[in-house]
Amino acid sequence: MFVLQAAPEVVPFAKTGGLADVAGTLPKYLKKNGVEGAVIMPLYKKVKETTAGLKSTGVTISVPVGEHTLTGILWEATLPGTDIPAYFIQRDEFFHRDGLYVTGDKDYWDNAQRFIFYSRGVLEAAEALGLKVDVFHCHDWQSSLIAVYLKTLYAGRNHFRGSKSLLTIHNLAYQGVFWHWDMKLTGFDWSLFHWKRLEFWGKLNFLKGGIVYADALTTVSPRYAREIQTEEFGHGLHGVIRERASELTGIINGVDYAVWSPEVDPLIPSKFSAGKPAGKAKCKAALQKRCRLPASEAPLIGIISRLADQKGFDLFAKVAPELLTKDVQIVVLGTGEERYHRLFNDLATKHPKKVSVHLTFDNTLAHEIEAGSDMFLMPSRFEPCGLNQLYSLKYGTIPVVRATGGLADSIVDATPEALEAGTATGFSFTKYEPTELWTCLQRALAAWADRKKWAGLVKTAMEQDFSWERSAAEYAELYRKLSGHR
Ligand code: ADP
Repeated sequence: MFVLQAAPEVVPFAKTGGLADVAGTLPKYLKKNGVEGAVIMPLYKKVKETTAGLKSTGVTISVPVGEHTLTGILWEATLPGTDIPAYFIQRDEFFHRDGLYVTGDKDYWDNAQRFIFYSRGVLEAAEALGLKVDVFHCHDWQSSLIAVYLKTLYAGRNHFRGSKSLLTIHNLAYQGVFWHWDMKLTGFDWSLFHWKRLEFWGKLNFLKGGIVYADALTTVSPRYAREIQTEEFGHGLHGVIRERASELTGIINGVDYAVWSPEVDPLIPSKFSAGKPAGKAKCKAALQKRCRLPASEAPLIGIISRLADQKGFDLFAKVAPELLTKDVQIVVLGTGEERYHRLFNDLATKHPKKVSVHLTFDNTLAHEIEAGSDMFLMPSRFEPCGLNQLYSLKYGTIPVVRATGGLADSIVDATPEALEAGTATGFSFTKYEPTELWTCLQRALAAWADRKKWAGLVKTAMEQDFSWERSAAEYAELYRKLSGHR
């Protein structure tokens, strides 16, 4: 069986979010499950400049986009440390840019055209390269139209006989919505511009097309799979998702423990494990020093996040003044919206001995915070999967989270029953309200004061297994079901 990951970003070539981690890691673990594969993405400027072993395949493709037929050149490399092919579609007019989808905080004006070219280009490339694809695994709106092409303009092509499509929704908040005249660029018949197909409030919605036409759908946690069928989390697409509910599954993302484990992490000052936890105190001391916070026994709360509305910092803003009357320290690493930059800068100015703020993207510091913090705060409004709470578990950094999406699926609240049963791994609250977050934080601080209880929590957290093996086996099973291969 051969599965082509059609992803607009793939680690380590280009990344803006968790989707890149999935696309770059999953193929390696699929191989262990007997599934052959490759990845295919656009040749961005950064990929061209930084990818070792990148070479031209000598194959070009012709891709109809509107009234024109555009040429693309196919390049190849391999996923590092493997022989899994990575293909890249070059068309500098579209992809030789600094950003992947945005410039500053504005979407590129021609994103519809760019990703119509890419999506249709993936099918042309598969044929030109002679890849007999059992399942096209599409990721998010950027490759959603592949599912539509397979069922329409490419349905009659011999090369694609038996090919199926799977669409993974990594974040329903991003749908690829464009003005209706972009329909002309797709080559689809106008009959598809229908509210049961690609039309969405008078506009063209790429993700909706994928949801309607893909043979199967997944999202990145079982809870999020249920949530997106509701008005609260559906971003206007809950109706169409509900219609496809029987083809939708939730598969939680795995963690690459070769990178994110305190037993092997080269980026932290002292290694540790559930059995040998002593190094964690050294990591905390080093983090306090680096962040110019006093060496203190106070619980250290870490935050690493995109500073976006999704992540719940409006809620945090309301409880922060009260939280900072307590003996706590907070380290924040993140970039995003200006108002959250202001919020955290203000807190740091008012409480220089308690709050350290880093408004930048810094992978090393992210590892140091995971290792050196006692708690990790993630009060998300919605969270398709979330990775940081999974890393936190491994580093014995107790997550304090809102029970939504992947956070609900991965963190067991420290209720008296769960503590008694030895299953508790963190603290969670349900309603998106400041008082709920505050009560939850108070429970965490009370537990911290009981060192024996806390040590038990840390041990259970560190023993959790969210490795890729488990998730890859679920994807492999789904591909087999779809393609009829055993
Ligand atoms: P999302 O994909 O919604 O941003 P996730 O928790 O799924 O949230 O993944 C975020 C990833 O990005 C994690 O690997 C996290 O460590 C990393 N990250 C986010 N912000 C920063 C930052 N400012 N510096 C370093 N790493 C960051």
